[in-house]
Amino acid sequence: MADLKKRSSIGIVFYMIISFILFFDGGYFSRNFYFSLTFLLLLNGICLIRLLHLAFFARLDDYNETLNNGIFIATVIVTSMIWGGGFAYFMVQNDEFNAKLLMAICTAGLCSGGVVAFIPERRLSVVFNILMTFPACLLMLIKGINYHMSVMIILFSGYLVMLTVRGNREYWDALENENKLKDKTIELKLLSHTDALTGIYNRRFFNEIFDFEWKRALRDQALLTIAICDIDYFKRINDTFGHIAGDEYLKQIAEILRNTFKRDTDIVARYGGEEFVILLWGVSLEKVIQMVEHVRQKIEDCRVDYKGAFMSTTMCFGISACVPDNVDSPSMLITRADKALYTAKNLGRNRVEVGRK
Ligand code: GH3
Ligand code: MG
Ligand code: MG
Repeated sequence: MADLKKRSSIGIVFYMIISFILFFDGGYFSRNFYFSLTFLLLLNGICLIRLLHLAFFARLDDYNETLNNGIFIATVIVTSMIWGGGFAYFMVQNDEFNAKLLMAICTAGLCSGGVVAFIPERRLSVVFNILMTFPACLLMLIKGINYHMSVMIILFSGYLVMLTVRGNREYWDALENENKLKDKTIELKLLSHTDALTGIYNRRFFNEIFDFEWKRALRDQALLTIAICDIDYFKRINDTFGHIAGDEYLKQIAEILRNTFKRDTDIVARYGGEEFVILLWGVSLEKVIQMVEHVRQKIEDCRVDYKGAFMSTTMCFGISACVPDNVDSPSMLITRADKALYTAKNLGRNRVEVGRK
C-alpha cells in the first residue's frame, strides 16, 4: 500500500494542472460556466484532500491502518468518478469539438498513467479505468452519438486492463524475487559467521565482534573479558575413537559452552581446531571465574557416547579481563589469555588460569 501511495502522488498534481488547461484554453470555462465551476471545484477539492491525506498518511497509519487505506482507495475512486462524469458531459455536447478532443486525449493519458501507478493493486486499477471511461461510452451509446469513438474507448480500456493484469503479475513476481534475494543474503551472512561443524560463531565473526565490543567497552568504560579454551589431549580422542567421533565430541563441547554463556551479549565462538573463545561484556572477573570453573567441571564430568563407547577428557581455560583504555589494544587481551592458557597446560591441564598485567 505504501508503494501504491507513492506511485500515485505525482498523478494528483497532473489532474489539477490538466483540468485548468482544459477549461481555460479556448474559453470553454466561460461558455460552460456552471458545469466548469462545479467540475473544477469538485476535482481540485478531492485532489487537495488526497494531497493532504498523503502528507499525513504515515502518522494516520498508527491509529487505524485499515481505515487509512480505505480513505486512500475511496479518494482514488471519487477522483475517477468526477473525471469520468466530466468526460461523459464533454463527449455528449453538440459543439465544442476542440475541447472534446483535448478532453479525450487527456483522459487517455490519465488512464495510461493510472495503470502504471496502480499496478500493485489490480482491482483498483481496473475499477479506476472503468470509472474514467465507461460513463462517457455508455452515455454516447444511449444517445446514439459518436458510436465509433465509444467502441474505440472500450477497446482502449480493454487493452489497459490487459496491461494491468500482466504488469501486476510482473510487479509481484519482482517483489517476491527481491524478498527472496534479501533472505538469501541474510542466510549467506549468517553462514559466513557460523562454524559449519558446531553451529556456533566462527573465528572470522569473533574477530569482527571483538573489535566492535572493544570500542563499545572503551566508550562505556565497561569490563571486557575473554576466555580462550583448549581441549586437553584431544589428539588422543581422535586416535582412539576416530576423527568422526572427535567431531561429535567437539559438537558436544560447543553445546556445553553455548548453554552456559547464553546471555544476548555473550559470544561463544570456535577459535581453531579444538579451541574455543568466550567473550563477555560487563561481567565481574570473579563471576567469570566462577562460571568458567563451573563449565570446566561440567566438561570433566561429560561422557560423550559414540556408538556405545564413551569419550571423555578435560579442558584448559585462559582468562583475561580489562576495562579498555587508549594504551591497551584488543590483541593485548588475547595475548594475555593465551599466556594464561599456556600456564594452565603447563601446570597439568584441566585448569582455569587468569592472565594479569
Ligand atoms: P593439548 O592438551 O596440549 O592441547 O593436546 P591436544 O592433543 O589437544 O593438542 P594437539 O594440538 O596436539 O592436537 C589437537 C588435535 O585436534 C589435532 C587435530 O587433529 C585435532 N583437530 C583439530 N580440528 C579438528 C576437527 O575439526 N575435528 C577433529 N576430530 N579433530 C580436530
Ligand atoms: Mg590446541
Ligand atoms: Mg588441545
